[in-house]
Amino acid sequence: MSRQMKQNLTIAISKGRILKEALPLLSKIGIEPVEDLNTSRKLILQTNRAPIQVVVIRATDVPTYVEYGAADLGITGKDVLMEHGSDQLYEPLDLKIAPCRLMLAQIKGATQYLPQRRLRIATKYVNITQQYFNQRGEQVELIKLYGSMELAPLVGLADRIVDLVDTGNTLKANGLEPTELILPVTSRLVVNKASMKMKQAAILQLVTDLKEVL
Ligand code: AMP
Repeated sequence: MSRQMKQNLTIAISKGRILKEALPLLSKIGIEPVEDLNTSRKLILQTNRAPIQVVVIRATDVPTYVEYGAADLGITGKDVLMEHGSDQLYEPLDLKIAPCRLMLAQIKGATQYLPQRRLRIATKYVNITQQYFNQRGEQVELIKLYGSMELAPLVGLADRIVDLVDTGNTLKANGLEPTELILPVTSRLVVNKASMKMKQAAILQLVTDLKEVL
């Protein structure tokens, strides 16, 4: 076995839907956690391919772990990567899992009642939203929220929201409608730049294997 093959390789994966869809992909290239993720409370999971381990963390923490080299590789959404805004990561692969859209949304028909002040927009994605409106030359007021964005227009906290939309059911159930697509989102494989140099053979092998099964 070559030296590279013996080196540890840590993959940070977003918990939730992305993890659920990433595991079958990893399984297809012969990497499987040795413990049942549904029952295990461990944060570091060993896999059947001994030097490879998986850490399961919040989506927004994935770029940070990979940027600092605490994980060599990461799997998280394009929305999270753009919001994080680091140029310290390689993004070699679109895994095409967990697809959804980052959209501007409003109370159904609300365009008729434009306020006499800057539009207030509630979102978790303040950086992406700011860039979007800057590009359009529109000044807006951003309100940072951490969850349940759909509530904000209903209680008068904001005029619009920017949030992830999959089926559109959550918006619909709350009397909201999507109006503009800001970013089509899928999950990406990201790689730490130093790891790419130090563990090149192992990482390129993994990228090649994943490309083949996509
Ligand atoms: P839906 O009702 O199917 O449009 O889903 C919308 C809800 O699911 C919103 O609360 C979103 O924040 C969340 N959501 C949709 N797609 C994703 C995704 N790929 N990753 C994380 N959250 C998502």
